[in-house]
Parts: sequence; C-alpha cells; structure tokens
Amino acid sequence: MISHTSLQWQSSDWQSILQSAIRHSTELLQAVGVSPNSVTAITGEASGFPILAPKPFVSRIEYGNPQDPLLLQVLALKEEMTPNQGGMTDPLEEKRFTPVPGIIHKYFGRVLLMTSGSCAVNCRYCFRRHNDYGSNILTPARLTDALAYLRSQTDVTEVILSGGDPLLTSDRKLSELINQLETIPHIQRLRIHTRLPIVIPQRITPELCEQLGRSRFQVTIVVHCNHPQEIDAEVGLAMAHLNAQGVTLLNQSVLLKNINNSAETLEALSVELFRIGVLPYYLHTLDPVQGAAHFYQPLSDSKRVHQTLQARLPGYLVPKLVSEIPGSASKTLIY
Ligand SMILES: *Cc1c(COP(=O)(O)O)cnc(C)c1O
Ligand code: SF4
Repeated sequence: MISHTSLQWQSSDWQSILQSAIRHSTELLQAVGVSPNSVTAITGEASGFPILAPKPFVSRIEYGNPQDPLLLQVLALKEEMTPNQGGMTDPLEEKRFTPVPGIIHKYFGRVLLMTSGSCAVNCRYCFRRHNDYGSNILTPARLTDALAYLRSQTDVTEVILSGGDPLLTSDRKLSELINQLETIPHIQRLRIHTRLPIVIPQRITPELCEQLGRSRFQVTIVVHCNHPQEIDAEVGLAMAHLNAQGVTLLNQSVLLKNINNSAETLEALSVELFRIGVLPYYLHTLDPVQGAAHFYQPLSDSKRVHQTLQARLPGYLVPKLVSEIPGSASKTLIY
C-alpha cells in the first residue's frame, strides 16, 4: 500500500506545470534539440489547432530525434494542411446524439458527460480537433440540465466523464460533480476518460485519490497512452496511487502510422502498462478526420499488426481493435 506521504514526489502542482506547457513549434523543436530544417513543422494556428505539449511529456522525447514517436504526436506538420479524401469535421456525428448540451448518449446504459472543453495536450491526430468545445462546456445551468437528463434515464448505469479532458477540472469542482452524480440512484459506475495521468502524472493528487476511494461508485479510469516511451517512473507512481484506491485502470490507444503501428511497439506497450497496473482496453483505428491523414494506415495493415500482437501476448494483454462507425450500437470489433 502506498501512503499519501509518498505523493511528495509532486515537485510542483499540476496547474503550474500545465501553464508552463510548450505552445509553439519553434520552442518545442528547441526543447528537444531538433533542427527546424529536419522537419516540416508549422505553427498550430496555421492548422487551426494550437500546439500544446506539457513538459513532463516533452521530457520523454528522445533528444535530437526528428522521428521520435512522442514528438510526432504533438508537433504540427505541414501535412496537416493537406485536404484528405473523406476527411470530416464531425466524423462520429456526435451532434446527433446530444439530447442536452454536454451529454452524448449513443450507447445503451452509458453516457458521456463532457466535463471539460480543453485538454492538457493537443494530440495532432485527435478527432475532436474541430469540435466546438465552447458550446459544450459544463456551465452550472448546463450541469443542472445534464443531471436532470441523467435522472430521467433510468437505464443509464454508467457515467463517463469525457471532454476534452475531465481531469482538467479542479479537485473541488470534480468532487462537487461526483457528489451530485452519486445522488442519482440508478448510476452504479463512474468512468473517467483522461490522458492527464500520462502527460502530467502530477495531476493524481491526494485529494483526487481520496475522492475516488470513498465514492460509492465503482470507479474506472481509462487513460490514453500510445507508446511505451510515454511511461516513466512518475506515470507508474500515479497509477500506483490510483490502484491503491481500488480504481480499475484501463488504457486506450490509437493506431497511428509512424508512431505505434508495429507489433513490437504495441507488445512493449501492453507489457509496460501491465507492469504499472493498467490493462489494455481498446486499440482504435484512426477516424477520418481532416488534418490527420498522415497518421492513417490502411485497415489491412492494422489487422495484420493486431494479429501478430495476438500471437505474441496473453489474451488479457491484447487490446480490442475497434472502429467507430456512426450509427452503431457500440464500437465495432475489427478482425
Ligand atoms: C466509446 C464511447 C462510449 C464507451 O463505450 P465502451 O464500449 O463502453 O467503452 C460511450 N459513449 C460514446 C459516445 C462513446 O463514443
Ligand atoms: S487528450 Fe484526447 S481528446 Fe485531448 S487532444 Fe489528445 S486525443 Fe484528443
């Protein structure tokens, strides 16, 4: 058991770490020792999606390597400006499943509650890059409507905090939100979809751990990690603190060309995740989003990589390869 005193590993608080995140291509390249001549970097503004790369994540980038798999997830490249065939701005048709602002109710029994409009990192391949976040931020009035909706949907047993990144919400606000959700009797499970424990592991504060540990909900945190190099000692410690509270830890990744599209990399990722107490959950194929075509790999390649992975790992370390097909009742298994 890990006591909270060992949380003194948090040398500075997560908000200041976030504030000092890198927001410009030139600054990012300088920080990782990559010459601007060796990449086709552009400003985030040019592609309509700002650069945002927190330093704990940047510190795991290999110095001087323009092809580093972590660098390529956060650096805007000229390729983002290429119009791609079938690239859409709302590929999952989420607008259609929004009964009240802040809620996405697509699947039976579980709903997404869009808790925060922004993220702690801007992943260049993200399908939310074109979302109108402003219209979905959970203001107090919207929260009242969202809670009323959840109360009316007695089939719903699980609430998934999503966004953006829900852990950008302060501990105090998160605590208020969870307390309110706990008053809805048919909700049994709380899930949090977040990349923060990976990019700024200092976000896992003692207050957050205590809140999750004492909740009447069964709590699951689904982190988002694409490459074994994203896991360092601090990420491991954050996971240990959550595990100590009985939180179930799962991971979802996106299959990305030139980043993690090899069985070797994904095998190492699963093994590393399990070592720190996280089970692989989903491996998503990339959605056809405008500006991210350079991360896309053909489905036949994805299947081949996944089959190799399956042949090398115990079943419980193989993530499910899935796509999101608009109108489906769940993610769609690919095999
Ligand atoms: C992915 C997703 C979920 C969760 O699906 P699970 O298969 O339960 O992980 C729920 N709602 C929406 C809208 C989703 O996109
Ligand atoms: S953290 Fe998730 S939602 Fe946010 S930019 Fe990255 S992939 Fe998108």
